[in-house]
Amino acid sequence: MNNLLITPIEFLKGVGPKKADLLKKELRIFTFNDLLTYFPFRYIDRSQFHKVSDLIGLNGPAQLKGKIVGMMDVGSGRGKRLTAQFQDESGMINLVWFKGAGWIKKSIKINEEIIVYGRPKQFGGKWNIPHPEMSSVKITGDKFQPVYSSTELLSINGMDTKGIEKLTGVLLDQIHGQIEELLPESVIQGNRLIGREQAILKVHRPKTEQDAQEARLRLKFEELFFLQMELLVRKKITIQKSKGVRMAEVGDVFNDFYKNHIPFELTGAQKKVLKEIRQDLNTGHHMNRLLQGDVGSGKTLVALLTMLLGIGNGFQAALMAPTEILAIQHNESISEMMEKLDIKVALLTGSTKKKDRIVLHEKLQSGEIDILIGTHALLEDVVQFKNLGIVVIDEQHRFGVAQRARMWKKNDLPPHVLIMTATPIPRTLAMTFYGDLDVSVIDELPPGRKPITTLHRYDNYRLRVFGFMKEEIAKGRQVYIVYPLINESKTLDFNNLMDGFEAIKRTFPMPDFHVSIVHGQMKPADKEFEMNRFIKGETQIMVATTVIEVGVNVPNASVMIIESAERFGLSQLHQLRGRVGRGAEQSYCILMTGDEISKDSLKRMKTMVKTNDGFEIAEVDLQLRGPGDLLGTQQSGILDLKIANLSTDSQIVGLAREVAKSILIKDPAIEMKEHKGIRSKLTQMLKSRPNWGRIA
Ligand code: ADP
Ligand code: MG
Repeated sequence: MNNLLITPIEFLKGVGPKKADLLKKELRIFTFNDLLTYFPFRYIDRSQFHKVSDLIGLNGPAQLKGKIVGMMDVGSGRGKRLTAQFQDESGMINLVWFKGAGWIKKSIKINEEIIVYGRPKQFGGKWNIPHPEMSSVKITGDKFQPVYSSTELLSINGMDTKGIEKLTGVLLDQIHGQIEELLPESVIQGNRLIGREQAILKVHRPKTEQDAQEARLRLKFEELFFLQMELLVRKKITIQKSKGVRMAEVGDVFNDFYKNHIPFELTGAQKKVLKEIRQDLNTGHHMNRLLQGDVGSGKTLVALLTMLLGIGNGFQAALMAPTEILAIQHNESISEMMEKLDIKVALLTGSTKKKDRIVLHEKLQSGEIDILIGTHALLEDVVQFKNLGIVVIDEQHRFGVAQRARMWKKNDLPPHVLIMTATPIPRTLAMTFYGDLDVSVIDELPPGRKPITTLHRYDNYRLRVFGFMKEEIAKGRQVYIVYPLINESKTLDFNNLMDGFEAIKRTFPMPDFHVSIVHGQMKPADKEFEMNRFIKGETQIMVATTVIEVGVNVPNASVMIIESAERFGLSQLHQLRGRVGRGAEQSYCILMTGDEISKDSLKRMKTMVKTNDGFEIAEVDLQLRGPGDLLGTQQSGILDLKIANLSTDSQIVGLAREVAKSILIKDPAIEMKEHKGIRSKLTQMLKSRPNWGRIA
């Protein structure tokens, strides 16, 4: 980067040591370049104004010109707020602040013409505008104007959006000819982008909406392009470094099972994924593959076949599940499939008795056990293998990153890792967040599945839902009723569950009906006992918390009722629904909610009713929650984007990835002259974030 751009921010005219300090602390702006890349988050079109009289029922933001004629503190306690009466020639509306009243009062000048921007909302029957942005007409003049986010501390010190605009302006006047282009001409032309300097000028000082759009597109592309470049390069480095066991054989066990014992013909998608895994195992590098497949898509069979490949090459395999119930089920179904083969399968969970453990540990070390299935218990240091070659981790969203890493340490060369998840991650996020993992997708369900019918019903419909349950039970089906126990220690939730259980027992009395219950506070043995009664069909109704969410397989259960469904996230609702629709019968999922639910909750219900497709649901989830929430906070560092947005700019992500890939194919070492800009920027990025990227 040239000298001007790396100049410390205190040397900018109008900044000085105190302001510089604040800019560093509050916005992490250290250099001229940081200020140039502190982009406006929106623009105000000064030619477009609403009138107060048009606001009622307006669905969206409004910009008004007028004055504040009075202010008042109202309410007390948590309802305490500041209101200001704002007036234009058409009428009056209240502006409201629930926070920061002191500072607002100081900055408001009564009867001076101002511009107000915000979203009108109805509150206690009256329309008002909560927490509006305000700016003075005098300074701004009429133009298409950038709005920068600021903080209270900055604002007090003259660096509200206007102040930042002014500082940026000082800088913009000096940069002509100083901003280096980073992208090669072919990429700029090929994607109809504008140049870098032009984009930086226009993003801060657009004359028109189109200027702003062009500038933002160019800068978003650039940001996402370098993110993808970084990911691809890191992945390449990881692969080069990561030696893995070469498993060249298909092996007799695999062939025997595949030819003689496999219970079904694999689906096309299962075959495709298996082929990808086969290739990975034969490279001599370490496999690190994420397998995404909707609930019921048949991931377990893929896992088993992968483990058999490892065994056929002389290694042991391990399968780790997130819950004990699931580990037990995997153990049962896999042991059954392995019955006619000479393969030893064992189970290890938190409830495995000490003396059984000792025997098990020995058999693992002697190599007598081929497949070990279990929970977190597998990760304990005492669990040592003779030669662990394959690790399959089921439903990874339940496991943390650190745990994944620990499985590796059980061998000199790390075992190949296959991570399976039924929580599909939207394509854009998978490309970015899992940039250093290979991703396989099972996008096809086994044949003969009927789509689940999903209904949203309000609580007052409950009696009819009970009636429907009776009809289905009379046909020989079984029913799940799931309660939210988001936090298993919350007494309120727990009481709800118990009340629900009692009510169900009254509505469905013995001896005609039998009801099971499973929740997280029960002892594992009791859980298993109840689960087994339901699996065997001895009980028709299973009242449960989300402990049944993952993986449980009871094909005869065809009705899933989710209580207080508004309290669950989309991916969890989808997971729960996946517990039914596993048999030949038509299945139903009924989402019960209170009468008044938020707009977002309603959108979640509508999405569930509309589609059974986990990927489509994941996209909506991403829009509703944003990438940070979806992936959890520890990963949010890489999502620290300045201008692009992974939920809304997915097309640009895809494009940027394609362009990045093609450049790496053309110029793997990034040494061509036209790629000089890319090289220098990338070197800088790799240096400044040495440790991230190793997420697996
Ligand atoms: P998930 O991907 O949710 O883990 P499972 O592996 O539990 O799904 O498979 C769901 C059900 O589909 C199981 O009952 C399994 O036996 C069955 N199944 C898996 N693969 C096939 C196939 N190729 N054809 C028919 N049924 C299959
Ligand atoms: Mg599964």
